[in-house]
Amino acid sequence: MTVTLEKSVEDFIATPRRLFIDGQWVEAASGKVFATPNPATGETLAQVAEADAEDVDRAVRAARRAFEGPWSRMTASQRGRIIWRIGDLIEEHAEELAQLESLDNGKPLSVARVADIPLAAELFRYMAGWATKIEGNTITLSPPFAPDAAFHAYTLREPVGVVGQIIPWNFPLLMAAWKLGPALATGNTIVLKPAEQTPLSALRLAELMAEAGLPDGVVNVLPGYGETAGAALAAHDGVNKIAFTGSTEVGKLIVHAAAGNLKKVTLELGGKSPNIVFDDADPELAIPGAANAIFFNHGQCCVAGSRLFVHESRFEQVVAGVADIARGITLGPGLHPDTQMGPLVSDEQLRRVTGYLDSGREEGARTVAGGSRYGERGYFVEPTVLVDTRPDMAVVREEIFGPVVVASPFADLDEIAAQANDTAYGLGAGIWTRDISKAHALARKIRAGTVWINCYNVFDAALPFGGYKQSGWGREMGHEVLEAYTEVKAVCAQLHT
Ligand code: ADP
Repeated sequence: MTVTLEKSVEDFIATPRRLFIDGQWVEAASGKVFATPNPATGETLAQVAEADAEDVDRAVRAARRAFEGPWSRMTASQRGRIIWRIGDLIEEHAEELAQLESLDNGKPLSVARVADIPLAAELFRYMAGWATKIEGNTITLSPPFAPDAAFHAYTLREPVGVVGQIIPWNFPLLMAAWKLGPALATGNTIVLKPAEQTPLSALRLAELMAEAGLPDGVVNVLPGYGETAGAALAAHDGVNKIAFTGSTEVGKLIVHAAAGNLKKVTLELGGKSPNIVFDDADPELAIPGAANAIFFNHGQCCVAGSRLFVHESRFEQVVAGVADIARGITLGPGLHPDTQMGPLVSDEQLRRVTGYLDSGREEGARTVAGGSRYGERGYFVEPTVLVDTRPDMAVVREEIFGPVVVASPFADLDEIAAQANDTAYGLGAGIWTRDISKAHALARKIRAGTVWINCYNVFDAALPFGGYKQSGWGREMGHEVLEAYTEVKAVCAQLHT
């Protein structure tokens, strides 16, 4: 028994989807299409046109025309109203979008309903408000070479121009929102490449954005593969900025590709986030909190709390509690009402995650819960807890991007700060304690872009998000993101009287 699909969803997936360029639905120049599979079954869900370099070029030129034309002629208030309306339309179509997301990504419908879709709507609303609040400063000058001169100097904050955005498959619509919202609020135009595993919700969003009144060419959506369409977008000379979310490995390729015209780059990359439970933590909060930190969205979160550190006096209790929760999680297709965890997104991810489970075992880690693929069909993996790990093991050092947590004990605050920071990444961290001084003191020591205290996975459009170290460059959301989508121009006039 699965949820009955909305008619609009059935129609959407039954029709081959095309590229969205300059406000039109078009075939790929090559005529190629690719299949997006249903991760619960491995069967084809929908056929989608496959963009490549020629389509990227066409979309970039359309985005340039829109940037210089209708979009730049709109007032900030008009832009803000369109962005707000996109949020409203997402909310009006929430169930449809949640079903599409669940089908394409595999996540439980309940998760898409409470997290992906409402957060995407809120992001657009939050960013809509910023459209009218992009401001410069007036600046007092005192040049030593002209002490008697008078100047009027100020800064303008202007859009960067045509922005390429490449997003991953773990929160397809939400990642599109994180990228599009601030780029639109600051007056840029966009070529968006969704992940090849999950192109559907971004294509539906393109329709809703047109309905909201976005002029043609302001947002172009090009489904396609990373090595072809993504690489062409990152390298394109007509693109002024590239914003990427994905693996650290591909992030480095983006940086190289962007070097040709030195386009601006922001990156939101991988993580291996520490989640730290002190002896004075409330176990009723910390145990489910630690489980949620890793198992939410099947661990397919760049910020997943994948390294669990527990004070040695509570280690057995917390690990046993997290393992109990892991064993109790119901796996199944995303659209089944009882499902708490769906399949991983793809066969490739299934192989990657089970490969880590094998390597952990081979290197001597002990499995306390899970540890294997689940079932024969679809890409399911059991929620897994590993102990007896060493800091040099691949399962401890590398991002697994699946429902796999490694747990280890610690003794004191200084030791735990060093252990938490013993990673190439720096995206997130969690701290569980009743002692607020200890919590805030440790928050300062951790080299990560987000630190959650007595909570985890709390996202808000107003809260900046991004990484230290190899977790990325720049921040998304909050007012910080506006800097990533604007250039600052200093204007200096001498007042001759
Ligand atoms: P994952 O390994 O989780 O699939 P990736 O970093 O490979 O994450 O993918 C994230 C996004 O980056 C996807 O949209 C993908 O198509 C794109 N991508 C992958 N390789 C490249 C590349 N060489 N250049 C540009 N984009 C890429």
